[in-house]
Amino acid sequence: LMQVYQPLNILGWAYREIKQASVDLERLFQVLRLKPEVADKPGAAALDITGGAVRFSGVSFAHDGRDRSVEAIDLDIPAGAFIGFAGPSGAGKSTLLRLLFRFYDPSTGRIEIDGQNIADVTQASLRGQLGLVPQDVVLFNTSLRENLLYGRPDADEAALWDAVTRARLKAFVDSLPLGLETRVGERGLKLSGGEKQRVGLARAILRDPPILILDEATSALDSRTEAEVQAAIAEAVRGRTTLAVAHRLSTIARADRLVILDGGRIAETGTHAELLARGGLYASMWAAQIEAGEAAPAVLAPAPSV
Ligand code: ATP
Repeated sequence: LMQVYQPLNILGWAYREIKQASVDLERLFQVLRLKPEVADKPGAAALDITGGAVRFSGVSFAHDGRDRSVEAIDLDIPAGAFIGFAGPSGAGKSTLLRLLFRFYDPSTGRIEIDGQNIADVTQASLRGQLGLVPQDVVLFNTSLRENLLYGRPDADEAALWDAVTRARLKAFVDSLPLGLETRVGERGLKLSGGEKQRVGLARAILRDPPILILDEATSALDSRTEAEVQAAIAEAVRGRTTLAVAHRLSTIARADRLVILDGGRIAETGTHAELLARGGLYASMWAAQIEAGEAAPAVLAPAPSV
């Protein structure tokens, strides 16, 4: 029996290794799109996550040829908090998230996670603790199941279905004759923007990182899809520190705190209600989205629980 078992065991191992490699590849590609400007310090230790508190202290950074992309950012994000970022195009939202991934080092200031300067820890350990739901969720030419397991290849059936349910994908999966075995991607079933986003959220729920980064696409969703995506986000952020960049403000209106960037600086910060009362940049952006029918006040109702 051992003679049969041994190769199978090795195959299983190879499969897991390859799956793990593909997860790492996604991270690698994210890095490769940017110049490798950072390196691990000699003898750098692994990041030791105790709760997932994030602190930006006096962080400034300028892209090549720019005066500044973000400037003097001070932010204290307690472990488990949900922080929403918004602001005009070019305000520095993506730059701030990339600095947290350490795709660049700040020119001044420091970023700490649980008291450790991210410049002092290994990049692998840093990125291993950060989950990302990108603007454009990539689907591979394989089954929906494989696409979801990409978040955590060794997840069991119960964990997979839990993620599918929490990401509000269950009704969609149940509507497919082949369910989770449906082929998706370029040569398979095309998923809508809202469905893809929920696949990204299901992957994140499966992966269960202590810190989650949501970088929302600009595209508008119909109000039903919007409500489903909202509910999936509410599930994904639960129990972890979340930094979410949103273009549709309804996505972050429920955040513990909103940070509104303008020209690389923090223009205003507070809760949705506080910022509306303030009547500043956020209030005018919110009014403009209401006008355009993009932000329904109903989204401020509590998220339905599973
Ligand atoms: P958007 O909402 O359009 O995504 P944003 O708020 O995320 O915008 P960033 O992408 O962080 O803004 O850009 C901040 C500033 O840095 C802008 O002036 C932008 O032109 C500049 N910038 C961003 N990325 C680069 C880059 N790779 N090289 C040079 N300049 C860049």
